[in-house]
Amino acid sequence: MSKIPEDAIQCLDKGFVRLVDSMGGDEAIVQAARVSYGKGTTKLSQDRGLIRYLMRHRHTTPFEMVEFKFHCKMPIFVARQWVRHRTANINEYSLRYSEARDEFYYPDPEHIQFQSALNKQGRMGDVPDDLKKKVQDYFKEISNRSFEIYSELNTAGVSRELARAILPVNLYTEWYWKNDLHNLLHFVGLRSDSHAQYEIRVFSDAMAESVKAVAPFAWEAYQDYAVSGLRFSKIEQGLLEQNLPERVIDDIIEDVVYQITATLHHNKPRQENEIYPLYQKQNGTDSEADFKLKWDSGEIKTGNVRELREFKEKLLSLKK
Ligand SMILES: Cc1cc2nc3c(=O)[nH]c(=O)nc-3n(C[C@H](O)[C@H](O)[C@H](O)COP(=O)(O)OP(=O)(O)OC[C@H]3O[C@@H](n4cnc5c(N)ncnc54)[C@H](O)[C@@H]3O)c2cc1C
Repeated sequence: MSKIPEDAIQCLDKGFVRLVDSMGGDEAIVQAARVSYGKGTTKLSQDRGLIRYLMRHRHTTPFEMVEFKFHCKMPIFVARQWVRHRTANINEYSLRYSEARDEFYYPDPEHIQFQSALNKQGRMGDVPDDLKKKVQDYFKEISNRSFEIYSELNTAGVSRELARAILPVNLYTEWYWKNDLHNLLHFVGLRSDSHAQYEIRVFSDAMAESVKAVAPFAWEAYQDYAVSGLRFSKIEQGLLEQNLPERVIDDIIEDVVYQITATLHHNKPRQENEIYPLYQKQNGTDSEADFKLKWDSGEIKTGNVRELREFKEKLLSLKK
């Protein structure tokens, strides 16, 4: 079983995640998207905008063009959760073929907690030191004893495929795991989430580092739209429509119109006398004097025109 390689990210006490190989990056997403949208984009900022558009609209297949291959070592109970992600290609260390090594996961004291009273699948609260010590001792005792028996059975010539069944699930295993960016982001979304078990979260976080490095725009878009984005159900939208005062929606729309104007001006600078008409063209309703006051405040942010227009449409739909 592998020791922690130099280029790996250590996870837990003896595990790791190592990016072995990757194919493509942000440019591969854009390249694939161009096939469906016709002529390509050229500027880096346009690539970013296109990736953000694809992510926002869940046009997912271009994200499948980027591939990652990892070498990972994790306790079997972590692998048990990990393997539920069915879209990956996996090749695992075989305990039928090779002998198990004496490598078991022992939790750090800080991660030994009580069963959560709020979340049936979680832990919480501080465990007294003597109980922590007992947990650690039990982990060691059962690991050592099971390994002794395993070794004895091996020496007696009992088949490895059977003898291994005596070993507990804190034994480390390792595998090569290959997946595409779309499904890897899905994995990270589920397994880096605070509801996921700590022991798998550290591996997910480690793989996320590779995504950030290989496809930074896709990572940023995923954070903005999938992780931090809010979706409203039909019922929730109904409540918003009923309870959000129109004047509040109008105020937000007004801010959005200013931002669209500022962004258009930023992308293609206009003459001084062209800016107010540009604002009016975006359905801005302020008088020219008020417009100048706000415009000169320097507080208007820029963004992405397409995204801002989509947001404006959503706000307008709440007024119906
Ligand atoms: C916090 C947490 C708690 C969990 N608790 C439990 C639990 O108590 N019990 C339990 O059994 N599991 C549990 N799971 C596992 C969970 O139900 C999923 O099996 C796991 O997260 C993989 O998700 P997935 O199927 O979306 O991913 P993948 O298998 O990677 O699939 C990705 C997507 O591809 C599609 N897909 C893949 N294969 C198929 C298929 N055969 N048919 C149709 N569509 C397919 C689906 O759209 C799927 O979302 C838990 C997961 C998390 C994150």
